[in-house]
Amino acid sequence: MTTQLQQTLLDWFAANGRDLPWRRTRDPYRVLVSEIMLQQTQVERVIPKYHAFLELFPSVVELAAAAPAEVIRAWQGLGYNRRAINLQRAAQAVVEAGYPADPSAFPSTPAGLRDLPGIGAYTAGAVACFAFERDVAFMDTNIRRVVRRLSVGPETVPPEPREAELLAHAERLVPPGQGWSWNQAIMELGATICTAAKPQCWRCPLREHCAAYQVWSTADSQVELLPQTPRRRKAAEVPFQQTNRYFRGRIVDALRAAPPQTALSLAELGPLVRPEWTSEWLPWLAKLVTGLANDGLVAWISQHGSELAHWSVALPE
Ligand code: SF4
Repeated sequence: MTTQLQQTLLDWFAANGRDLPWRRTRDPYRVLVSEIMLQQTQVERVIPKYHAFLELFPSVVELAAAAPAEVIRAWQGLGYNRRAINLQRAAQAVVEAGYPADPSAFPSTPAGLRDLPGIGAYTAGAVACFAFERDVAFMDTNIRRVVRRLSVGPETVPPEPREAELLAHAERLVPPGQGWSWNQAIMELGATICTAAKPQCWRCPLREHCAAYQVWSTADSQVELLPQTPRRRKAAEVPFQQTNRYFRGRIVDALRAAPPQTALSLAELGPLVRPEWTSEWLPWLAKLVTGLANDGLVAWISQHGSELAHWSVALPE
């Protein structure tokens, strides 16, 4: 039996949920692709890439058999390239286990999915729920924020609940038999109304049931209790263009832009990665490339001799 809170959100989602392509399927491969793409990438950017990726790799079998370089090229524009390699490794594990001849070789439980390479707790829960319709709780940033506000109160008011405590709240909220709709609904609310910096409580269907709203609506100074804006939070952060993650992305982009099966020497690669390039940066570049090679995103073609400038690298074919 659903509570009033649960029914209210389910009704709101039925009337307001966006029609997203991965909400029209229960194919575990397609759900897995969408969930990996949606980590750290916005829905609008994911939609065209999702369709293009599935054109290239229509099933888990095609993805498992592809050259890693092809998969990395198909990931262009999504960022966090390591996700592409993890996705392919998960596909390979599923196929090696006997899928699709044995449909049960695609794990359907959170625990089974977590055994796949590169699949974390969130993705395992999401695939178990959105592909296999299991009534499980899992938390990404949006779900965590909504559950916290709904069940505990504003995140600006201590104490900060432990992760296990929040997950227990999330589990209690899942209506039996309706986990798919519930988890889609709570994610949708977090993405569109209960946003990080500016929750729009005035149009939220859960206002009457929400612990944070009770605090905000009765506080003398609501402003102090509202979340910090992203601008304030980012003030002390290092600019993204100075981070190793940025330069790792530049290296993969440069190799992606090269004709297939083309290796670049570090001397050729360097100026494509840093406009202010000098040979003094060679050890730094070699270290970044080694990290990418360890992650399976690039492959050393030649590492002979002490002349780093002549070492060469390509996408893994
Ligand atoms: S009432 Fe406000 S804080 Fe509570 S769930 Fe809705 S938008 Fe979020």
